[in-house]
Amino acid sequence: MAKKGFQAETKRLLEIVINSIYSNKEIFLRELISNASDAIDKMYYKSLTDDSVSFNKDDYFIKITVDKESRLLKISDTGIGMTKEELETNIGTIARSGSLDFKQAIEIEDGYDIIGQFGIGLYSAFMVADKLTIISKAFGSDEAYKWESTGADGYTITPAEKDTVGTDVILTIRESMEDEDYDQYLDEHRLKWLVKNYSDFIRYPIKMDLLKSKPKEENEEELEEYVEEEIVNSMVPIWERNKNELTEEDYLNFYRERRYGFDDPLSYMHIKAEGTVSFKAVLFIPEKPPFDFYTKDFEKGLELYSNGVLIMKKCADLLPDYFSFVKGVVDSEDLSLNISREMLQHDRQLNVIAKNIKNRVKKELQEIMKDQREKYEEFFQSFGRQLKFGIYSDFGQNKETLQDLLLFYSSKEEKMVSLDEYCSRMLEKQEYIYYATGDSVSRIDKLPQVEFMKDKGYEILYLTEDVDEFAIKMMGTYQDKEFKSVSSKDLGLEKDESSQEDLQENAEMFRKMQELLSDKVQTVRASERLKDHPVCLVNEGEISIEMEKILSSMPNNQNIEAEKALEININHNVFQSLKDAYQQDEDKFKLYTDLLYNQACLIEGLPIDDPVEYTNKICKIMK
Ligand code: ADP
Repeated sequence: MAKKGFQAETKRLLEIVINSIYSNKEIFLRELISNASDAIDKMYYKSLTDDSVSFNKDDYFIKITVDKESRLLKISDTGIGMTKEELETNIGTIARSGSLDFKQAIEIEDGYDIIGQFGIGLYSAFMVADKLTIISKAFGSDEAYKWESTGADGYTITPAEKDTVGTDVILTIRESMEDEDYDQYLDEHRLKWLVKNYSDFIRYPIKMDLLKSKPKEENEEELEEYVEEEIVNSMVPIWERNKNELTEEDYLNFYRERRYGFDDPLSYMHIKAEGTVSFKAVLFIPEKPPFDFYTKDFEKGLELYSNGVLIMKKCADLLPDYFSFVKGVVDSEDLSLNISREMLQHDRQLNVIAKNIKNRVKKELQEIMKDQREKYEEFFQSFGRQLKFGIYSDFGQNKETLQDLLLFYSSKEEKMVSLDEYCSRMLEKQEYIYYATGDSVSRIDKLPQVEFMKDKGYEILYLTEDVDEFAIKMMGTYQDKEFKSVSSKDLGLEKDESSQEDLQENAEMFRKMQELLSDKVQTVRASERLKDHPVCLVNEGEISIEMEKILSSMPNNQNIEAEKALEININHNVFQSLKDAYQQDEDKFKLYTDLLYNQACLIEGLPIDDPVEYTNKICKIMK
């Protein structure tokens, strides 16, 4: 039988696994048992929803057997099995390869992190085995097939003999080496311990033949050995157990076993809700975003069970988009087993559960924010963007839920602060929540508008992410205080009388400047907010300069531009030169107007129309 080659990425992944120095090789057993359990879930669900299938509960189990002499470890399940085609597509290719990150990660020389970060499912068997054989008979098929591979160079698929539906995964365990003990994976007691440790909550029995001893009947002094089949896992799913019987380690193991993530979760919630709809849930807030979290490949959702039967692996309707990072499982006896995906969306019970979950997650996050601030900041670093996006994308509908979970960098504290913290220390007559936008904290910090407000003693929130200002505009107010950009026309400060006079005095010149810049700015005026800088741009309308930048970088942008005003610092010494030029030399006045406008653009991080012309003009005045 000719060998088939693996797809390039699979091959590379296998090479990494085979040569891996990963210290936690024992996890392979957990991965294989998880697959077996998933396959039984599918079969079990079928038997409950399809009358033509007659299966008893006792028919579902996983069995682990060892043949020490031939160095074989077999994990058999009575799950749904795989057809020849499924063996080909499921085992011969990596399901996760759609993600760019994953592709990049396998190109890295040392693949150490792959195993920890991505999980490798079935292939993890190659960390401990020289050869992997899978014999499977799919439900509804008369034929069984054998898939076999000794590593990266390819695999074969041949017809095989198997009486019952299900899958046998057979590992030929490697010979032990000086620094690596592989024999442990042929030792029943060690295997039993691994099952207990990693797969205790699997709902189906995991059976093993264990060697035991008892006193001989004819002579009680002597012991005789015998083999007895034992169920080695407790089988009670974690969500059915009592919180106080469980340790943090148990939850962590469950998180791993369900492959929710390969980080340590930031926090977990164990919910038992009674009421109009009862349900149990174990939910996790991960610490880090999964590698595909911010891509279109990411699918949110919780595992949904109806009284112990898995209905859906990823039920999206249980989570709002802004909490899409939450992982876990929900089990409710009030849900119908036959419910279809389309019906789920409109299911009243499901909506009640979803609402309850939303509130629990919010409460949990608020508590972390209050009691474990550093941890919350880590969380926000990973998922804050999702929360802000939540406010923006639902037109502010989720403001109530989300506004108290937000953090922004504060000019005063020089760290992330909440809106409540900001409001609690506003100045006596302060009416607005001030913010400034830009690419980075250090850039914003240097903006003339920011400098001015800081000097006046105001705290400013620095918005550095593209979604920030959109979210804030959508919120409109927080605790009845309006948000105000330090670049907006009217800052809501008390007016200075003298500046009004100056404004009058220079009105004619400013009008002339505005004419020269008519396609660029709405108006030119004396500034009340500049100290050391000669000029700045401020927003005249709803669309801010920062929003203009973001919108124009989007595909099919509609050339949306902010309405801007150019403000001039009449106390700066270049102002006198400008005035002199206005009175004496029209060309020079035009030149200065143009230079000042371009300077203001540069400070704002806006592109200038013609950089070459701009530098030529600078050279001209340097001469
Ligand atoms: P993952 O489980 O993350 O999808 P794996 O490499 O572990 O990745 O498995 C790939 C696929 O092979 C599974 O999604 C499943 O469809 C199939 N599979 C693996 N093990 C079994 C099994 N014991 N019975 C039936 N199908 C299986």
